[in-house]
Amino acid sequence: MKKTLLDILMCPIDKYFPLECFELDWKENNIIEQGILYCKKCNRFYPIIDEIPIMLPDEFRSEETEKKFLRNNKKRLPSKIINNARPWHI
Ligand SMILES: [Zn+2]
Repeated sequence: MKKTLLDILMCPIDKYFPLECFELDWKENNIIEQGILYCKKCNRFYPIIDEIPIMLPDEFRSEETEKKFLRNNKKRLPSKIINNARPWHI
């Protein structure tokens, strides 16, 4: 996703804005390839995978895929996300 999207993205659950962004991989032209968006109001994280921010309600999220994503990036993300975020952590 383009970094400029951060100027408009809000949490789909509570509409909180702005979201914190933790970049894991990126390329030129301000494109984030992998990362995490974080809502400090409801303590939810949303992964950015293959440039796509995945911002779905909890019931449509994939626990298996997202926990794998967290495990793979455990050392590069803050503990508030790895150990404590909703809807799940590791
Ligand atoms: Zn929220």
